[in-house]
Formats: sequence, structure tokens, C-alpha cells
Amino acid sequence: MNKTIIIPRTLANRLLTFAQAAPQAEICGLISTDTNNKYRVYPIDNIADDSGCIFEMNPQQQISAFKQIRDEQQELFAIYHSHPNSEALPSKKDQQDAAYTDALNIIISLNTKGVLDMRGYFYREDGVETVDLIIE
Ligand SMILES: [Zn+2]
Repeated sequence: MNKTIIIPRTLANRLLTFAQAAPQAEICGLISTDTNNKYRVYPIDNIADDSGCIFEMNPQQQISAFKQIRDEQQELFAIYHSHPNSEALPSKKDQQDAAYTDALNIIISLNTKGVLDMRGYFYREDGVETVDLIIE
């Protein structure tokens, strides 16, 4: 049985809005949370040359987002990115680049017109673990 993780609808809608605002490029960023279940989204620029099908986070922005998360005693909840032209399935590169085996990875797909396709994964050392995201 897959692990289930609840995503607040307002958070899901924000991620979808970011993705829809950039239909040509993958968007990416971090989400933190705290003990009160407050979520913060840190959008980060995708600096990949081929940003339509891969993402590479701007390193300075990534470092400062992690610093802010630490300073505010929050913890990393998820790493998100979008797939403008493909399904919400992790690519080979997504899995190879994964540095945080404890962080949830959220992929938002714009491939399915009108339907929110947001899926979650953990990239474990022994493979991909699919998570059931419950948006409520
Ligand atoms: Zn991807």
C-alpha cells in the first residue's frame, strides 16, 4: 500500500498556478512546513538550458531558501517541479539528481488539460516510492 500524504487545496492550487504561468518551462521550488502545519512555498528559478524538459535550481536561491527554512525553524516538506509536456512521472534525471531521500517530490503535469495531475514520490536509495497525494 502506498503512503498517503495530505496536501492542502490552497497549496495545491498555488503550485498549479505557478505551473500554468510557465507553460513552456518547468517550474521548481521548495515547500517547508512547521509544527502548526503551516506551509511556505519558495519558488526557485529554473536555470537549466533546456528548461522545457529538465529543471536545475538556481543555487543561490536554493541556499537562501534552505537558510530561511532553518532560521524559521521549519523543515523541508517537499521539492516540486512541473512537467509542461509530459505526465507527472519522474524522469531518469529527476531520480539521478535527487539529493534528499527524505523529502517528498511533487510533480505537477500540465499535459492533461483541465485536470489537476499532481503526484508525489520519494526517491529512495533502492528506487522510487509512489505516494498517494490527498488534496483536501
Ligand atoms: Zn521532472
